[in-house]
Amino acid sequence: MQKVGFFRSIHIKFVLIYVLLIMIAMQIIGVYFVGKLEDQLVENFQNGIKGRLPLLEYNIKEEFNKDRAGEEIPSLEEEVRHLLYDFSATDISEVRIINNRSVVIGTSEPSNQGIVGQKSTDIMVKRSLSGEHLDKIYYDEDTKGRIWVLASPISANGEVIGSIFLVAKIETVFEQLEEINNIFITGTVIAMFITALLGILLARMITKPISDMKRQATAMAKGNFSRKVRVYGNDEIGQLAHSFNHLTKRLQEAQATTEGERRKLSSVLSFMTDGVIATDRKGKVIVINERAAEMLNVSRETVLLQPITELLDLQEEYSFEDLQAEQDSILLDYSTRDNHFILRANMSIIQRETGFVNGLIVVLHDVTEQEKLDAERREFVSNVSHELRTPLTTMRSYLEALSDGAIEDKELGPRFLGVTQNETERMIRLVNDLLDLSKMDSRNFTINPGWVDFVTFFNHIIDRFEMSKERNVHFKRLLPKHSIFVEIDEDKLTQVIDNIISNALKYSPEGGTITFRVKEFEGEIEVSISDQGIGIPKENLEKVFERFYRVDRARTRQLGGTGLGLAIAKEIIGVHGGAIWAKSQEGKGTTICFTLPYDPVQEDDWL
Ligand code: ADP
Repeated sequence: MQKVGFFRSIHIKFVLIYVLLIMIAMQIIGVYFVGKLEDQLVENFQNGIKGRLPLLEYNIKEEFNKDRAGEEIPSLEEEVRHLLYDFSATDISEVRIINNRSVVIGTSEPSNQGIVGQKSTDIMVKRSLSGEHLDKIYYDEDTKGRIWVLASPISANGEVIGSIFLVAKIETVFEQLEEINNIFITGTVIAMFITALLGILLARMITKPISDMKRQATAMAKGNFSRKVRVYGNDEIGQLAHSFNHLTKRLQEAQATTEGERRKLSSVLSFMTDGVIATDRKGKVIVINERAAEMLNVSRETVLLQPITELLDLQEEYSFEDLQAEQDSILLDYSTRDNHFILRANMSIIQRETGFVNGLIVVLHDVTEQEKLDAERREFVSNVSHELRTPLTTMRSYLEALSDGAIEDKELGPRFLGVTQNETERMIRLVNDLLDLSKMDSRNFTINPGWVDFVTFFNHIIDRFEMSKERNVHFKRLLPKHSIFVEIDEDKLTQVIDNIISNALKYSPEGGTITFRVKEFEGEIEVSISDQGIGIPKENLEKVFERFYRVDRARTRQLGGTGLGLAIAKEIIGVHGGAIWAKSQEGKGTTICFTLPYDPVQEDDWL
């Protein structure tokens, strides 16, 4: 936050305003008061002197009119000197009496007696002799002070018989005034000083809470809401501080809510199994969750602000506006030769109430598995139809031949019927297998496990095959001598082993050997059935467990297989908690292995 400069602070503004106000007030009062006082004092001074003049005037007139014929009567000049001597006072520097011929009759100034008898040239005197009352304030160079000069006519019987010329020391009045002025200035300075101090205190009182609020606002901007502004009183600033604290609280709550929402949203986004991408109104990525980044194999940091069309690799087919207008979802196929990867993208625009589009949300859903299942389902249906059509067309042609007369033939008739019977049985087997698989596919497929000695169980099955075998194939048993108790569904496992052994028999050459092995490992047993038949090409070893997969379709169909046996086996072993796989050397033989969970300790307990 910017620091407030000293001269810009409220502190100094307050002090300046206060001091200026006081100064202006004092100035106005001073000018008015001193002006009035000056007038008053000058007037008082002048009135004081003027008040004494009539008596002097009267006495002078008396002296002027006196008959001076006798010798013993003092001269007019002498009498006047006496009068002036009596009249003189400290505030009067000189009084002169001039007769109507402008001759100075007397002066009160002892050092200036020389002018007595001389003609006065003073203009004021002249004018007063014509009946005018004159007075003026002068600056006197000699005394370095102001003097008041007054010329007043002496009239008798309507005639001017002389003039009184008076010089008074009015400077004393101005000295008094200056003293008063000084007192006033000192008072003003003291008042200004006190005001400045008060201004500082007042400014502090006002600025302290404001500074507190400023600090608080700075802290709030940094995300610290724990501070509180101190409330100093219940005035407007106090209430402002109260409101500020309230605001802080509300902001803190709002921020906590927003933060909570943000965290919720971010955890929702990060734990979502779908990918979510949000763009701004120009189509640039602003939010991308981990799942989306993982799906698109990009890093979240690098794709921010990248155009969404580029990120989804759609720039050639779609513009951002096209994506906004897209009502249906778009399938994004990122499959490579070895890896299937298909995403479904659903768009939704972020719109304001005004209709202004703010951005786009793209939800990515991994539909690889779904698409794969769809493809498998389609393939399965076509396989089933194909598998059913083959025996049906065979049967139709045989039945047609029979109805065309072959039935009459003693040799062909029963043979053709045998073929149709075989095909029917194969169809029943196929349908049974399909039913089995569909049961296994349903969610509530369960097995009925029971504790079985696997060695005895396995021997029984092998015995059954050995007794009923039609071909010259040797059976070799490499089975443990002791019993191995496992928890299995006997019927289901019989079905698995039957299928594996019948395959081994089917593909075994004349005089070949089928080897049966059971090996114990930690936690499981491994069962293997090896033949010396044609074998399975390496690339098909895993595929033989897929539904309807056959290495050589034509030949295996001849051998009566449905292509579902190993697929069923895989499901059954799977629910038992085991695994099944094939090993083979082409032309030399095949080994089908499967494992079953086995715990010797539990077996002991059970015994
Ligand atoms: P089928 O009913 O056709 O035998 P399976 O699921 O049992 O169906 O077997 C699938 C395919 O695996 C067979 O069609 C065959 O091509 C191959 N196969 C299975 N067992 C053997 C084996 N022991 N030797 C050679 N090929 C085999």
